[in-house]
Amino acid sequence: MANSNAARVEIDPKVSAFLAREHGLFIEGAWSASTASERLQITDPASEDIIATVAKANENDVDRAVRSAHSAFEKRIWSGMSPANRERLLLRFADLVEQNAEELAQLETLNQGKSINIARAIDIGGAPAYMRFIAGLTTKITGETFDVSIPGGNFVTYTRREPVGVVAAIAPWNFPMLIGLWKVMPALAAGCTVVLKPSELTPLTSLRLVELANEAGIPPGVFNVVTGDGTTGKALVSHPQVAKVTFTGSTATGKSIARSAADRLLRTSLELGGKNPAIFFKDVPVEQAVNGAILGGFFNNGQVCAASSRLYVAQEIYEPFVSALSDAVNGMSIGPGLDTTANINPVVSAGHRDKVLAHISQAVKDGARIAAGGERPNMHGFYVRPTVIVDAGQDMAICRQEVFGPVVTVTPFAEDEAALAMANDTQMGLTASIWTNDLSKALAYVPRLNAGTVWVNAHNLIDPAMPFGGFKESGIGRDFGTASLEGYTEVKSVCMAYPG
Ligand code: NDP
Repeated sequence: MANSNAARVEIDPKVSAFLAREHGLFIEGAWSASTASERLQITDPASEDIIATVAKANENDVDRAVRSAHSAFEKRIWSGMSPANRERLLLRFADLVEQNAEELAQLETLNQGKSINIARAIDIGGAPAYMRFIAGLTTKITGETFDVSIPGGNFVTYTRREPVGVVAAIAPWNFPMLIGLWKVMPALAAGCTVVLKPSELTPLTSLRLVELANEAGIPPGVFNVVTGDGTTGKALVSHPQVAKVTFTGSTATGKSIARSAADRLLRTSLELGGKNPAIFFKDVPVEQAVNGAILGGFFNNGQVCAASSRLYVAQEIYEPFVSALSDAVNGMSIGPGLDTTANINPVVSAGHRDKVLAHISQAVKDGARIAAGGERPNMHGFYVRPTVIVDAGQDMAICRQEVFGPVVTVTPFAEDEAALAMANDTQMGLTASIWTNDLSKALAYVPRLNAGTVWVNAHNLIDPAMPFGGFKESGIGRDFGTASLEGYTEVKSVCMAYPG
């Protein structure tokens, strides 16, 4: 149902002023116009209005940005700074994000369509804690010392972790600023320099973010931002001075990046798609199961790579589960992200809305049944009703392809082993969850689920300390945790001979 009692957030004048600016590219510590005259139009998914325009970088612009990052790297402007000073600047950067949180949250909602509640609590609200965790790692990059058995001499041997070089960071549109930071922060903490390319759909918060980094004192050339579409990402990945690519997005684009990276053996971290299962065993109370399914499947309108889009439910609780989930989903209010009471907001673009709707119609053509939702509401904006699909065979596209919208399938199982087999029957392996109060069952199933993160009685929970990334076609590498810096460093072995 459409939300009739809107509690709409008033736009901060700083946000209006930011939207009205003639946004350029951020290169060498300053705004710079693109050499191309064409601009990208940025749309508010709730109103369908154009709210800003940004530069559309061409190959020359990308070249300028990478050269700036490369020159800063070669001159050791950043990596040569003491770790404590780098940490101090990154902590100041986190403080500035916190101080400008409301402006950033409103920009994220206006550009992405998401709930302002999520933008405030997670996208922007969660950023400073993550930034401070990673900033703290700057002073904790270590190598090893060890004894060697090389004959004929005396040796001191140790390893150093050194920054890999210029990092090309390509960030997606579902958590634009936050996922951008998941790339920029560890790269900077490791001593790398960065060119960030936000999604062409949601570049606005990245443009504000880089200004805050500059204000924090991060030196010119260390953190650059280029906006563009169609060729910008490719130009970045193929630039000879880029040493590492970190990408979050679709598996298809991730594979294409990996193919072009292979030519130069470019380092890559790829955080790709998910088709994530949640298994609800028979002992879990239906209300708890439904709440878990809603948080897992519909949070951020299902535009979450970790989302639980395939729900496997024990036969014993299947009927009440489908009925309660359908009621809950039908009762969700639909409205713009700036309406704090709306449960479902628009998806990011008209193109993405049509893609989500096409997945739903294909499922119906394939013989699945809609238990709730399944269509667009009769309102302006890129909305899709939250949708529950039943009777979907495991081989149907709806059970195999990432939809990335407010759509879940529910499938019953009679035997626990059958649930496990269906959960693992996918090329992807990003996340999974098990719902049960039987500790032995949970502990037995955790190692048998092929996924980078497995939750028990939870879904979609992340923490800066907890590594995040995929098995199988869900990617390569891990964000978060102390190990997240490893992807931005090379190990150098040093062996010093001395007379005995
Ligand atoms: P893509 O996964 O296709 O990524 C688009 C980004 O990648 C753009 O910045 C684009 O820049 C860049 N790009 C595309 N091709 C290349 C290439 N060969 N080399 C370098 N960069 C490239 O995103 P979409 O927006 O099209 O979304 C498609 C699907 O991805 C969604 O439906 C969803 O399923 C999934 N997705 C997954 C996310 C996740 O968190 N894992 C997040 C968002 C989406 P340019 O055009 O300038 O080259």
